[in-house]
Amino acid sequence: MILADIHTHALVSSVFFGRDLSYRRRPPSVLHPGGNQVDLARAWDAGVDVLGFATYVPWSYPWRDCWEGTLANFGAFGDLAERNPERLRWVRSAGQLDRCLAAGKIAGILGVEGGHAIGDDASRVWHLAEWGAWYMTLLHFTDNLIGPSCHTDPHGKRRLTAFGRKVVATMDAAGILPDLAHLASGAFWEVLDLTAGPVLSSHGGCRALCDHPRNLSDEQIRAIADRGGLIGLILFKRYLTGKLWRGTIADVVRHAEHIATIGGPDCVCIGSDMDAFISTVDPIRDVTGLPLLVEQLAKRLGDEPARKIAGDNAVRLLRRTLGVRNRTTFTAE
Ligand SMILES: [Zn+2]
Repeated sequence: MILADIHTHALVSSVFFGRDLSYRRRPPSVLHPGGNQVDLARAWDAGVDVLGFATYVPWSYPWRDCWEGTLANFGAFGDLAERNPERLRWVRSAGQLDRCLAAGKIAGILGVEGGHAIGDDASRVWHLAEWGAWYMTLLHFTDNLIGPSCHTDPHGKRRLTAFGRKVVATMDAAGILPDLAHLASGAFWEVLDLTAGPVLSSHGGCRALCDHPRNLSDEQIRAIADRGGLIGLILFKRYLTGKLWRGTIADVVRHAEHIATIGGPDCVCIGSDMDAFISTVDPIRDVTGLPLLVEQLAKRLGDEPARKIAGDNAVRLLRRTLGVRNRTTFTAE
């Protein structure tokens, strides 16, 4: 069975706290506030085959600009892969993915969280594609030059900017998937109008079970599924139950079941968001909890849907889209 988590913030530990992800650390807790949830040692123990590393810089990067900070993230990942050839590979194409899986190593996949990473220069999207970025989450917690965040525009009244439409068109040409997590709902539909290929919502839950702007409505779930895209299940209590400190693995399974019922079992995967300072559902404390999640998914949904959610869906979309330029016809602004 393939185990994939398409969205983690392990690089935050590395870039901002100087932690070496080669080595085992403890999960964070009141007693161990300096812990983290993902490192190579524990991902290896968990049998993770594909691990998504999101690059991230705060909206106002304190000492350099956001683009430089993004380069620092890619550099940190490259350094990690170089120092751990026995466990990790930097995978930028379908061929590399297949070779990595056949060799039994962890396929490291890069994503970019927050379109503020590129500043005001859409051509930087091409650099991200060169470095193997599979997706870019267009928005984050605040509006950026691309458009409105669901956190500031919870009713989805605003639209992408002209620059945002240009960025989406450039991503289509360069072969980077639009990740619609954090995007306001009005702009969500606009991106679907501008593109024809698969899209992601890399980490989140569903609105029908937890009414939060970060979660997807049934219409949005259906639209992503119709496009052959993927929805990553977040493990954050807050977006699954509405409560910051209450939530169990059963809640993740409920969201998975709902998404699979609305969009079919082929549109669901794991996008845990671990190491984004989230409270993970009980009893999952770190990446070693993922096999238990898969076990619970299998109990509730059956073996085949559980295998798809655990990793087959992610690998299918990666094979189809990773490093593929001009992947769709697109409509520019
Ligand atoms: Zn996020």
